[in-house]
Amino acid sequence: MGIVVTVDGPAGAGKSTVAKKLAKELGWRYLDTGALYRAVALTALDRGLPTHDGEGLGALTATLAIRQDEEGRTFVGDDDVSSELRTERVSQAASQVSAHPSVRRALVDVQRRVADDGPLICEGRDMGTVIFPDAALKVFLDASPRTRAERRRDDLQARGEDVDLDELVSQIEERDHRDANRDTAPLLQQDDQIAIDTSEMSIERVLERLRELVVERCENGGTDNRLGNCLDSRIPSGP
Ligand code: C5P
Repeated sequence: MGIVVTVDGPAGAGKSTVAKKLAKELGWRYLDTGALYRAVALTALDRGLPTHDGEGLGALTATLAIRQDEEGRTFVGDDDVSSELRTERVSQAASQVSAHPSVRRALVDVQRRVADDGPLICEGRDMGTVIFPDAALKVFLDASPRTRAERRRDDLQARGEDVDLDELVSQIEERDHRDANRDTAPLLQQDDQIAIDTSEMSIERVLERLRELVVERCENGGTDNRLGNCLDSRIPSGP
């Protein structure tokens, strides 16, 4: 495993935006693990597989060739499914299918393998707790449900969709509740994660803070060699 920075937290805390930007800046790999669960959910919905069928979903996930390319596009086999993953229907189904241990198990290696390709920033719910417990830097981003719902509303409005803010708040709270209360890999902040409440922060400020943390760890490379020389690390650019 190469250098890994994990960013966990609930939906709408700003994880994807900042993790993607920082990875690009540093020339590192970026992994959006929510998209992997969304791809499983989308496939299950397409095939009429119920989201409560843990056994069936586990078997399905184990046979799907799910991957993300360097641009963050998500593929199931040869199909680029990225544009189909962001609907509310898929969000809720992803949160249901991800509660099954069989589904989570089937995605462990898919996620860990990405760290073999070079330094990585990954984001999700259990990156620092389950997938990369030895990550060099672990961050937990959070924000109030209302702030997160407002960000989601702005995204949807930018795509021409009109939505009710209160409805979004209750959808977000429903998803948070399910993610935090499942038995396997629940969304939980741990002591070894650096918590950042982004409610009152702009994306630029969150990005700046994350950058500071990475640099700080890099400068402490002597004492924490998991991040030693990390700013010189780049994804190998091929033979
Ligand atoms: O991050 P995103 O909102 O795309 O994630 C969709 C759903 O996938 C989450 O609500 C959560 O239930 C699940 N998920 C997870 N573990 C991860 C990433 C996402 O359970 N590492």
